[in-house]
Amino acid sequence: MSIRKAIFSFISGLLFSAAAVAQTDSAAVAMQKHKGFRDLALMDSTIRQEIRYATANNFTKAVIYDCPACLLRPEVAEALVQVNQSLRKQGLYLKVFDCYRPGPYQQRLWDKVPNPDYVTPPAKGSMHSRGAAVDLTIVDSTGKELNMGTEFDFFGVEAHTDNLNLPAEVLKSRQILRDAMEAAGFGGIRTEWWHFSYRQKQFPLSDYVWPCH
Ligand SMILES: [Zn+2]
Repeated sequence: MSIRKAIFSFISGLLFSAAAVAQTDSAAVAMQKHKGFRDLALMDSTIRQEIRYATANNFTKAVIYDCPACLLRPEVAEALVQVNQSLRKQGLYLKVFDCYRPGPYQQRLWDKVPNPDYVTPPAKGSMHSRGAAVDLTIVDSTGKELNMGTEFDFFGVEAHTDNLNLPAEVLKSRQILRDAMEAAGFGGIRTEWWHFSYRQKQFPLSDYVWPCH
């Protein structure tokens, strides 16, 4: 082998192993970066995201999160991707309003609205702070939300899931959401049509806050 060839082969070997190391590193870094939480946007980019607490467009009228992200425990994120896949067969998509809510952000929410009717006290801990709950709705292929009867975070009897005194269109849209979520292991709650918790596994509360760039 000529010196030139030897150098070439040495350098390409070096580059190859560097690339392999970089690839392994990036997967490890991605998981480690979020302390074991999964970033839903990286798993299914067709699930719409409008993380309301990263804007002032929420019931507190204040920006609670420093920047938006939809992180979830791995099993929960995978189940949600399944739900979206089943909805896509009907030309529908999920749209998430809130996912994992770090302990410090739950505290901010509580500081704004210290009322257990609307916000879970941080000491008790919300299913959102366990990375096991998600607030969401359904959109059509143009991104238009289905009529669910109320906005996200509307507190009143119109948002209750046991309230059947609603237009047939609303009841049908809610049924589509509930059926799809329950089939993947989620369960809803009585007072908020948009809230679902993953029921197949318990997760601890977490104070991890995702970084903002
Ligand atoms: Zn919720």
